[in-house]
Amino acid sequence: KTFAEAGFSVELMKAIAKQAYEKPTPIQCQSLPIVLSGRDVIGIAKTGSGKTAAFILPMIVHIMDQPELAKEEGPIGVVCAPTRELAHQIYLEAKKFAKANDIRVSAVYGGMSKLEQFKELKSGCEIVVATPGRLIDMLKMKALTMSRATYLVLDEADRMFDLGFESQIRSIVGQIRPDRQTLLFSATMPRKIEKLAREILTDPVRVTV
Ligand code: AMP
Repeated sequence: KTFAEAGFSVELMKAIAKQAYEKPTPIQCQSLPIVLSGRDVIGIAKTGSGKTAAFILPMIVHIMDQPELAKEEGPIGVVCAPTRELAHQIYLEAKKFAKANDIRVSAVYGGMSKLEQFKELKSGCEIVVATPGRLIDMLKMKALTMSRATYLVLDEADRMFDLGFESQIRSIVGQIRPDRQTLLFSATMPRKIEKLAREILTDPVRVTV
């Protein structure tokens, strides 16, 4: 399999070549066609598998496909991750592919000034990568609106539950329109995560690596 088979734009193929990603990893091979077709996905995969690019690359395509991009405000792609370290890693991976496409990425997590993050979100972004608690804070402060969010990723869902973010996750999901595309990644699938997946995903495809 090759990245070219996914039908990515010239810009995106250039950005992938710049990263020297020669070919898709197993989870990318399995999930890229499914995610690009617009289906919801449950991905059972660990860090190191290339799962970040598996959800970021289709997110870039999804955003580029939006007509009249400039007319509305707020992120189109929303990623929730359990820790600031992981959120920062995802932010860096997203930046690699977003820049060439004029897509703005904001990271929102604890340990950084709320005022600075508020200002950054107010200046606008197409992708937000966040830890759940800080994203809730920003939503309460009306730093951003979820009105145009249509692509939601919950990364390391099991760890987010272990860290006690269940209610925050449910609150965030509840603020995003139901006709969104939703991807849930988790290293393990305990019953609580299965239940969440049943509640917030629509007819998901399961991908295991
Ligand atoms: P992740 O599992 O998303 O944390 O990715 C692990 C590492 O693999 C990151 O440093 C990525 O930049 C890198 N990576 C992702 N996809 C590929 C690929 N297709 N080929 C080579 N490296 C990759």
